[in-house]
Amino acid sequence: MLKIFNTANRKVEPFKPLGEEVKIYTCGPTVYNYAHIGNLTAYIYWDLLVRTLKLNGLKVKRVLNLTDVGHLASDADEGEDKLEKGAEREGKSVFEIADQYIDAFKKDYHALALEEPEIWARATDYISDDIEAVEAMTRNGFTYETSDGVYYDTSKFGKYADFAKLDLAGLKAGARVGYSDEKKNVSDFAVWKFIHPGEKHAMRWDYLDRPGYPGWHLECATIIHKELGEPIDIHTGGVDHIPIHHTNEIAETFAMTGKELSRYWLHCNFITIDGEKISKSLGNTYTLAELSERGFSPLDYKMWVLSGHYQGTRNFTFESLEAAKTRRLNWRNRLALCYQKDVKSTLNFDDVLAAVNNNLNSPEAFFLIDSSTLSLDDWQKIDQLFGLNLVNDTPRIPEETLKLVHEREAARANKDFAKADEIRDQLSEQKVTVKDTPEGPVWEYLN
Ligand SMILES: [Zn+2]
Repeated sequence: MLKIFNTANRKVEPFKPLGEEVKIYTCGPTVYNYAHIGNLTAYIYWDLLVRTLKLNGLKVKRVLNLTDVGHLASDADEGEDKLEKGAEREGKSVFEIADQYIDAFKKDYHALALEEPEIWARATDYISDDIEAVEAMTRNGFTYETSDGVYYDTSKFGKYADFAKLDLAGLKAGARVGYSDEKKNVSDFAVWKFIHPGEKHAMRWDYLDRPGYPGWHLECATIIHKELGEPIDIHTGGVDHIPIHHTNEIAETFAMTGKELSRYWLHCNFITIDGEKISKSLGNTYTLAELSERGFSPLDYKMWVLSGHYQGTRNFTFESLEAAKTRRLNWRNRLALCYQKDVKSTLNFDDVLAAVNNNLNSPEAFFLIDSSTLSLDDWQKIDQLFGLNLVNDTPRIPEETLKLVHEREAARANKDFAKADEIRDQLSEQKVTVKDTPEGPVWEYLN
C-alpha cells in the first residue's frame, strides 16, 4: 500500500483514504502566460500519484484549479494582478488572456498524457462562493476590514504557524518598512481586495458596496469546500506554496468551517536549468513547444521528470533530456522486440508497484525496468503507471516494411551487400533500422 511523505507532520506514512473515493486537490497554474517546463513538473509528479492510487485499486476524484484572477505579482498581497499584466503585455482583455492560456495549458497537459482531473475549476466561476466564504469567516470573527480589503486576522487561528513551522516573531522583525499600517499582524492577508477609484482591474465584482476581487488563496479553500468537502485526502502543490499559500488555505478553511483542510499534503521541489533558477531574464523559461523545436517530445520531458524523485531538487540540462529520450526509445524498442519473438518476462510488476508505493520512488521503478526483461503485458502496465504512451508510440511496422526487412536478410544471405545497404537506406527513410543479432535480424525504430 502507498506510503507518502506528509508535509503536515514531516513523516513518510501509510496513506489511508477516508472514504471510497480519494479526494485530491491540486493547485493549478495562474493562466497569464505559457507554462515553462519547471511549472509542468508538478503535474507530472501528481499524475504519477493518481495513477499509483488507481493501480492500488482506489477510485480518485481530483480537482485542478485554474487561477484567472487575484494572483498578484508577489504571493502575498502586493503588486499587480498577473492576469492584468498579461493583458497589458499582449494588448488583450484579461478575459481573452485567461481563455488563451487555459487552452495552452490544457494542450500541454494533454501532450504530456496526464490523467484528466475529474473537475477543472476556474477561479472566476466561484466568486459567489468566495463571497459566502468571506461572510462565514467574518461571522466567525476571523476577519477585519481595512481601506484595502477584508483581511484575515491570523492571531485568531492559534495553529497558524504550525503547518509551515513559521517563526512569526522573526517574520515581524523582518517585515518590510511600509507594509500596511492597517494590518494587525504581519502575517495577516487579504481574503477580499477592494479596487480603489482609478485603479485598473478589469475583473471586478461588487461586495460590501464596492468593486473588488478575491484574494488569491481563497479560491482554493472555496473550490475545495464546494467541490470536495473537508477534509480532503490529499492536497498537492510546490514547496514554495508551504509558507504562504497553503498556510493561508488551511487558515481560511478553519475560519469558514472549523475543519481541517486536508489529511495529507504532498509538495514537490523545484528544478533548476543548467544550475540556474528559471527566470525570464536568464532566457531559460523553456516551453514544451521549444523542446519540440529542438527535437524532444513532451513525453521525453515526462521521462526526464519521472527519472527523478519529486522531493529532490533536480537540475535540467539538454544532455540529461537527451539521455531521457534515448531511454524512452530504448524502452520502445524493447517493446517492439515483443512483437518479433516470444519474450519471457523476468519482471515482477508488483516490485515496480512497491517502488512507487514507497513515496512515489519512480527512479527505483525505472531501475527495475532497466534491469529486467519485460513482456508486452508488462509494458502495458508500465504505460498505465507512468503514462508514457510506449505502446501507442510503438506500433507494429507495416507489412511492406517488414517485407523489406526480410528482403535485406535474403540479400545478406546471398552476400549481395550492395542490395542489403540499399534496403537499409529505404528502411531508414521509414524510421526503421535493422540490428543483426546472433538470433537473427531485429527491427527497431530510429526515433
Ligand atoms: Zn492553492
